[in-house]
Amino acid sequence: MPDPAPKPPKNVLVVNAGSSSLKFTMFRTDEEKMLAKGIVERIGLCETALKYERFDGKTLEGQVSVADHDGALRVVCEKLVDKKIGVLKKLSEVEAIGHRVVHGGEKFHDSTRVSKEVKQIIQQCAELAPLHNPPNLGGIEACERVFGSVPNVAVFDTAFHHSMPPSSYLYAIPYEYYEKYGIRKYGFHGTSHKFVAQATADFLGKPLSDLKLITCHLGNGASITAVARGKVVDTSMGMTPLSGLVMGTRCGDIDPGVVLYLVRQGLAADDIDKLLNKKSGLLGVAGLNSSDMRDIIQAADGGNDQAQRALWMFVHRLVSYIGAYYTILDGADAVVFTGGIGENSAYIRARVVAKLICLGCILDDAVNHDVLARAAIISTPESRLKAIVMPTNEELMIARETVRVLQASEKPAARK
Ligand code: ADP
Repeated sequence: MPDPAPKPPKNVLVVNAGSSSLKFTMFRTDEEKMLAKGIVERIGLCETALKYERFDGKTLEGQVSVADHDGALRVVCEKLVDKKIGVLKKLSEVEAIGHRVVHGGEKFHDSTRVSKEVKQIIQQCAELAPLHNPPNLGGIEACERVFGSVPNVAVFDTAFHHSMPPSSYLYAIPYEYYEKYGIRKYGFHGTSHKFVAQATADFLGKPLSDLKLITCHLGNGASITAVARGKVVDTSMGMTPLSGLVMGTRCGDIDPGVVLYLVRQGLAADDIDKLLNKKSGLLGVAGLNSSDMRDIIQAADGGNDQAQRALWMFVHRLVSYIGAYYTILDGADAVVFTGGIGENSAYIRARVVAKLICLGCILDDAVNHDVLARAAIISTPESRLKAIVMPTNEELMIARETVRVLQASEKPAARK
């Protein structure tokens, strides 16, 4: 008799640890129900703040005294078992922890259970994501200290994109730079693109393996992915999350010669980094002191030229990618909008879909204006290419991945 499959963990904590923050969501996985979620912010700085929200909408906000991620996690644990606002009787009910890890490099092609070796590789991948992987790893180690033997699973933003062919992921520079430095496209937001692709298939009542989708994650960071039968064929972010679409504060695609020019003008690497990552995109072009799409739209509607320019650049870049991915996929079934802008902005969706008539996608204006953060087809029934709104849920995807990995195998999925 084969061993029975291990029982799936019922209560899964999802952790997203940043350099000075720790986001958490507690799930009951058999019902896919969010029990509680929140964030500890400004860890290690003065006035560390906790925001906690229970499934029934009851909230708690206030300052807490913690010095590090261990302290933040302990505060979260206290709240999870608190008699008044908690959702668990005791901490031992947490059966597994899923972690968002930004960069898995070429080593991780799937989510994986954390081991000593896995942690070492996450550390090595920090070269590619120096601002993200170290705090992500810090979150894992804090959980190991606070939760003891509870299994941890790492879910990588890059993993879903591992199926890209070399023609998509290689840059046209000498091959030895790929071999020596790992310079290639990795792609990000993979957890969101994967969730949204599967959710779209479920929504359409079709297997993902029968669909060709162009998923547009439009938040502060934005990326677009071509997914054929559940596999990524191409994506807009690259070796770092700077390339591709115009974003809130990031420039997206830019002639690399611009960087060289700025170097020759005397700008230091850190200055150029800040310019392209933090001062560009909607913020830089619109010049409104805001990277929030709502502010840009309002100003553009009020006749502000720069805001209008920023909007059209955002739409133009996105439409260019949709056209390219439609071709790469040999046609597609749907363009899917998600993320804060994709889910909430009928205005942006209308402008994008208006440019897709040549691909057989015709907007249903009334439906589009009616849709706010819910799944819906916003194209007309006769459209050859559908336009769909699909809310993302990266935390739920991490919880699902955690269950899947722990059920499937004890072995880490790292390539040696
Ligand atoms: P993040 O990438 O930080 O997770 P989100 O996915 O939450 O961000 O998206 C945040 C963005 O969504 C903000 O820049 C905001 O401009 C945009 N947004 C939210 N609601 C709307 C709306 N109704 N109209 C236009 N943009 C919106």
